[in-house]
Amino acid sequence: MKKILVIAIALIAGSFVFAHGGKTVDAATALNNLKTGNSKFIKAKKGSGDISPARRRDTAKNGQHPYATVITCSDSRAVPESIFSCGIGDIFTIRVAGNVVDPQQLGSIEYAAEHLGTKLVVILGHTNCGAVGAALEEVPVEGYIHYLTDDIKAAIGDEKDYAKAVELNTRAVVSEVQKEFGEMVTVVGAIYDIETGEVFWLE
Ligand SMILES: [Zn+2]
Repeated sequence: MKKILVIAIALIAGSFVFAHGGKTVDAATALNNLKTGNSKFIKAKKGSGDISPARRRDTAKNGQHPYATVITCSDSRAVPESIFSCGIGDIFTIRVAGNVVDPQQLGSIEYAAEHLGTKLVVILGHTNCGAVGAALEEVPVEGYIHYLTDDIKAAIGDEKDYAKAVELNTRAVVSEVQKEFGEMVTVVGAIYDIETGEVFWLE
């Protein structure tokens, strides 16, 4: 019995160490990977990320080591794995309408940074964001949607321009994540153009 317990503890400890011990990618390299991936995507007609059975087997067996965390909108036109030409295990993705962050999203960012070793966090807003549009036009919302628009309204203030509001909302999330995890990770904002496929990186 004691022996079994020791083996069980060793296995748990082993997997924990492994989660920490994967190959980490520094923030500058991660950002470069995403930029290169986006350039590839703009001209692509099909996804080019690795979704092969071999990649599935490798990540199932050896664990995940995503090189960046991406927080973006749930909008079906803003698909981060496609936008950055990523495959299985490449990016740790958090999607929520309006790319807002609340404690659950912060917990996800923290998990990726502490346990998966991601050094870069990207907040990716996008053009024609419906959630930002709703906050901007002060459309009356029902049910739970106000949890999204309240955050966005606080971020955009009196701004009336759609594109500027998208940017302000993205920058507000960048500031929030920086405030929480700025010492642990590099936080970068960007806007995705849903028509051209191009990602514009915010300074
Ligand atoms: Zn959106």
